[in-house]
Parts: sequence; structure tokens; C-alpha cells
Amino acid sequence: MPRITAIHEGTVAISSAMSNAFIDFSAMDCSIVAVVSDVVRDGEPVVGYGFNSNGRYSAGEILRRRVIPRLLAADPDDLVTADGAAVDPERAWEVMTRNEKPGGHGERSVAVGVVDMALFDLAAKLAGLPLHRWLSQHYDLGAPDPDVFVYAAGGYYAPGKDLPQLQDEVREFLAQGYDVVKMKIGGADLATDIKRVEAVLDVLDGDGSRLAVDANGRFDLTTALAYGEALEPYRLRWFEEPGDPLDFALHATLAEHYSGALATGENLFSHTDARNLLRYAGMRPDRDILQFDPVLGYGLVEYLRIQDLLRQRGWSARRCIPHGGHQFASHIAAALHLGGNESYPGEFQPTGGFADDAVIAHSRLTLSESPGIGFEDKAALYRVFRALHA
Ligand code: MG
Repeated sequence: MPRITAIHEGTVAISSAMSNAFIDFSAMDCSIVAVVSDVVRDGEPVVGYGFNSNGRYSAGEILRRRVIPRLLAADPDDLVTADGAAVDPERAWEVMTRNEKPGGHGERSVAVGVVDMALFDLAAKLAGLPLHRWLSQHYDLGAPDPDVFVYAAGGYYAPGKDLPQLQDEVREFLAQGYDVVKMKIGGADLATDIKRVEAVLDVLDGDGSRLAVDANGRFDLTTALAYGEALEPYRLRWFEEPGDPLDFALHATLAEHYSGALATGENLFSHTDARNLLRYAGMRPDRDILQFDPVLGYGLVEYLRIQDLLRQRGWSARRCIPHGGHQFASHIAAALHLGGNESYPGEFQPTGGFADDAVIAHSRLTLSESPGIGFEDKAALYRVFRALHA
């Protein structure tokens, strides 16, 4: 019966020169954890690793003062799976969130998500399976998808970046195997953004289904409607986070006017928030995209609750394309038969992106068969994790 012997936590910079309509990423960091088990293989303990994806800062204080002490204080017998083969992420979740009031999630959903990722990595490693196969077996999900749709998120604003540079960036994504790309809007005026959209479409053979745009929650209703009207003729893949992520009425009104797909959810961190989005934001199951990030929103355990909710409400899991661009979500997408996974080629290092030898072709990522999440195949990140507990 595996037990946790130690949990190490640290912070790593994921700085980037990029900025979107709302924030610049030059000061961004994230939390990393190593959950060490008492199972020894090849002379070393089996260790699960986790980190929080980009967009939220490190949550070290909550990890150190609340989440990790609760887990270490729990009776190990209360934490194992029914078959005794792993520390159970679901039982651990109940312990980690003990004595937390509902609502107002703040950064604690991030702290729980980081440890949740490490526990799933550990469970799959103990079984000797890549996470997508472990999930398929553990939750009886049928055969996992062999590959996952990925699109290249970029097209950020940068000082001095002109249209030819933007087009070169997109050409580079195409050369890396992506057919579908996403660019930022809302950091300039509408006329300028439309010129940027047209410049990118030129590189994509004018095919709007290969381009998504992301306003990062920047617009008020009037601006969102104006952008919607201007963007509609391009028949884009989707129009992402037009307004504040919690302004469901704005979303519902825009959905009445904009016939294309809308996408949102990366800044909603619980299944209750997800349910409110489905109830009140006018989201359309036949076209819209849900981007809840399994790490930032209390981990995969909570994400599975969201999947139950979607089934109850007649949504296909294929409409989910999580935010974050990380290895964890690629396994989740394959096992849960989601619609895909975001990717930020080359950005948010060392945590962002996939294995060093990952193959992407025609915007599809082939899944790694390494045990766990496969961090060991991402050398720079693995070095950082090892240093946590070496
Ligand atoms: Mg986004």
C-alpha cells in the first residue's frame, strides 16, 4: 500500500515577453510540487510531480500552510484507492479541501490543482502506465484517443511587432505541425485588430476555421457586440473570452447576436462556476467551446465533476478544449475524449508544452507512452522537479 513520505513545494518563473489584452507575463511564476512515495524502484522512490499552468501565480502560501499539511496529517489508510495500488486523488481531494468554505475560490483552487496533478502522475507511475491509459482503466472510459487535436496559441502583442512579424509567427506554427492557430485581439482598436486578423488569414489560405481569436475578457458589452459584428463574416474557429469571465449576461447577449462559436471557461475554477456558465451564459452545445483548465480549477477530480455536469446537460465532451497547453491536459483529453488541448509553442518554459520529442502533425499530438504524465521526457522541466527533492 503506497504512502506519501514527503511533499516538496517550490516556485519557478515562467516569464515571457508576451502580453495579451489584459496582462503581461513578464512577472509570472507558478508553483511546483513533488509528492514522494515510499515505493522504491531501481533504488529511487517513485515521485509524482505537479505544477500550475500559466495565467495564475504560484500559490505557495496556501500549499505550505493548508493543503500540504492536511495531506501529510491524514491517516495513510484513508488515502488509498480501493485496490490499494495508489494514493487516491479523489480521497486526497476531500482531505485537501477540508475546512474550506464554498465559493470565492481565489488561489486555493490552484494550490489543490497542483497537488492533484502530482497525485495522478504518481498513481499512473505506480501502475506503470501513461496517465491516459491509467485514467481509461481506472474510470472505465473505453479506449483512449491515440492522438489529440492541438492548436497553436500565439499572436500576442509585443512592442514593435508589425503585421509581417505576426505572419512570420504563424508560418512558424504551421512549420511546427499546427494547422489551427489562435491570436490575441482587444489590445488594439477594432480597425487595427481586423487588419491583424486579415493578415493572419492570408497565411491560412483565407480559411477562418483555422483561426481563433482571444480577447482575454477585455470587452464591455458594446465593444463585444461591435467585434462580433466585424468578425462574423470571417467565420472564425471561435471568439474567446469576449467579456469578463463572470459576466454571464454579456455572454448570453453576445450569443444572441454572434452566430459563430464562442469559447470561454479558462477563468472559472469550480464545477459550480461551470454550472452557472451553462445555466446563464447562453452557451450553445452545438458550437461553443468550454476551456476549463483541469489544473487551475481544483484539479482533475473537480474536472471530472464538470464532465458529469456536461453529460447531464447534453453537452459532448468534444466541446471541451482545456486552457493551459500542458502535458497533463493532453492525457486528460485523450482519456476523456475531449475536443483537444491548447498549445503555446515555446512559451511558458520550463513547464509549458509537451515532451521534448513530441510529434505534432496536422494539428494532432501523438500521446506519450511513458509512465505517468511523462515529465521525465521533458528534460528542462524534469531537472527543475528533481531539484525539488534531490
Ligand atoms: Mg484564453
